[in-house]
Amino acid sequence: MNRILSLDPVTARIRVQAGVRWSDFQRAIDPHDLAVKVMQTYATFTVGGVLSVNVHGRYVGFGPVVSSVRSIRLVLADGSIVTASRDEHANLFHAAIGGYGTIGIITEVELDLVQNTRVERHAQKMTLDAYAAWFDSNVRDRKDVVFHNFDLI
Ligand SMILES: Cc1cc2nc3c(=O)[nH]c(=O)nc-3n(C[C@H](O)[C@H](O)[C@H](O)COP(=O)(O)OP(=O)(O)OC[C@H]3O[C@@H](n4cnc5c(N)ncnc54)[C@H](O)[C@@H]3O)c2cc1C
Repeated sequence: MNRILSLDPVTARIRVQAGVRWSDFQRAIDPHDLAVKVMQTYATFTVGGVLSVNVHGRYVGFGPVVSSVRSIRLVLADGSIVTASRDEHANLFHAAIGGYGTIGIITEVELDLVQNTRVERHAQKMTLDAYAAWFDSNVRDRKDVVFHNFDLI
């Protein structure tokens, strides 16, 4: 269950089996100058495991991983196989992503990819009371900010 089933660099879409690790398909899309749209911090997890908990990333302006999923293939408890998307079996699509495996087993996933771009990292220390105002003027609504996270220390 760890194969890449198809990759279309023109439409920037990939179809993978649910056992593939993010790092494996990143290696396949990188030569096409494509990148994952939304993912968690580590790439060692499986696509199925990550969809099942609907992970979040550090992306500014993107929601959790479901926002990059076009469709999934599910095996339900009665053994039937269904394709679910926002247009087809939408209730199963939304319940299975973030469903911790309770709805069915995700076997295949179709994901949107994005153009690969270079990012530059900036780090800054500040007191907690300064953070909200700093966030409002430096991160919120800025189109050139790709990722953001903060650590309380
Ligand atoms: C170091 C570290 C960093 C992390 N960073 C982030 C982060 O940045 N953002 C974030 O949101 N999370 C983060 N997490 C949490 C992580 O993304 C989740 O635990 C994720 O589910 C791990 O994927 P896995 O392949 O190990 O899944 P597993 O632990 O194997 O499974 C997770 C759940 O999904 C179910 N499942 C697995 N595969 C399928 C399938 N094919 N069909 C149906 N159900 C299935 C399992 O039954 C289980 O309930 C982090 C975890 C660690 C350890």
